Amino acid sequence: MPSVFIGRCHSYDEEEVERGVREAVLALGGIGRFVRPGQRVLIKPNLLLFKPPETAINTHPAVVRAVATLVQEAGARAVIADSPGGGTGFNAAALRRLYRITGMDEVARTTGAGLNLDCEALEVPFPEGGTVRRLDVMRPAAAADTIINLPKLKTHGLLRFTGAVKNLFGLVPGRIKLGYHTKLRDTERFSGMLLDIVLWARPVLTIMDAIVAMEGEGPSAGRPRQLGLLIAGEDATAVDLAALDIIRLDPQTVPTVRVAVHRGLTTGRSADLEVVGLPLAEARVADFDVPMTGSPEVLLTPPGIRRWLEQQFVARPRASDRCTGCGICAQNCPVEAISLRSGHAYMDLRRCIRCYCCHELCPQHAIELRRSALARLLARV
Ligand code: SF4
Ligand code: SF4
Repeated sequence: MPSVFIGRCHSYDEEEVERGVREAVLALGGIGRFVRPGQRVLIKPNLLLFKPPETAINTHPAVVRAVATLVQEAGARAVIADSPGGGTGFNAAALRRLYRITGMDEVARTTGAGLNLDCEALEVPFPEGGTVRRLDVMRPAAAADTIINLPKLKTHGLLRFTGAVKNLFGLVPGRIKLGYHTKLRDTERFSGMLLDIVLWARPVLTIMDAIVAMEGEGPSAGRPRQLGLLIAGEDATAVDLAALDIIRLDPQTVPTVRVAVHRGLTTGRSADLEVVGLPLAEARVADFDVPMTGSPEVLLTPPGIRRWLEQQFVARPRASDRCTGCGICAQNCPVEAISLRSGHAYMDLRRCIRCYCCHELCPQHAIELRRSALARLLARV
């Protein structure tokens, strides 16, 4: 199994983070193993929402800055790129705003890295894909010589966990992401597509920002949780496995891992990882809060009846009193299941495919994910 580095990093102090990132990269063989002079290196942080670093929604700029510094030092050209969540914000004006709010423009100013403003989508063939044979990706991803993946450790309504594998979904530009939710309603097929993106992008290095993670109602409405860790490796699935072990979440309940195991991309066992740096046992936290919005017992059923069970037992979105009627959820619902009435959002649960894009994107964190009483009872049992 591939190596994963785990290191302590207690704060986002720029010097401390740079030390931590240098230590991680050195432990994995040095930046020269991953980047060559003259290459165009796409750095892919998680920039889910137009929110500042202290919200713990996006990859912290101190981590991006440290990686961009190493890439530039190696004589390569770093370009920071992401497409924010849902269909919003993938045009040059919105990206400028995103970079300003998330601290990326300061990273670019201090390191010399570029900020992507190219919003063109390319359809690329991927005949070896396990779920999809063609992918829609942002042009700079296709044009890059190599990709460095900088996810944030967070919980996730649909997939329970978002880390290295899920982060690369941001290479799919703008509203095209909604089309993938519509086409791939089954959680395992959606996870299969995410793995196809990883296999297509072949990121040479993943460094996960687990300094302040997000627990609870992630990936945007949860609580920041200090873990004080950087987790790095060449293999995105291995980095995710290490992160899951640290937060004590059973990998078998995470669809991206289950599909990766099924495809033979990983054993799904953190015990098979070769861990350098901090041992897993010393990094583990016992009480990381992962809500039961998805349903492991549903995910373990045969596909034929899974869809029906998902409709019955997987959490349902509902707009709370915090809803201001802004309409962002309705604009980003891939199946048009949300309507606005008297300044409040209502979900048509017969149409809803439980993708939780609305929960992810609501700026008021107004969308609650509720499981039925029967589902809660079954989960306890
Ligand atoms: S639920 Fe959130 S995103 Fe939807 S209309 Fe209300 S405030 Fe806006
Ligand atoms: S209502 Fe929310 S969870 Fe349901 S399909 Fe629409 S965006 Fe997805």
